[in-house]
Amino acid sequence: MRKCPKCAESLSPLYFGTICRHCGADLLYYHFDERLEQDAQKADAQEEKLQRLLNKLPLLKKKQ
Ligand SMILES: [Zn+2]
Repeated sequence: MRKCPKCAESLSPLYFGTICRHCGADLLYYHFDERLEQDAQKADAQEEKLQRLLNKLPLLKKKQ
């Protein structure tokens, strides 16, 4: 079941419009945005793993 990325309401699989019927969000824009985000996440994945490792080391913990 597709869901609106903005309001999370279910969208009919038979609905091929680009505007969410619930909140009026532009679904094409949101999907495009989502893809960009996923690409960015892939690129950051390695760095994030390293960062998590570093965060586990007590000496490198940052006080907040
Ligand atoms: Zn919506």
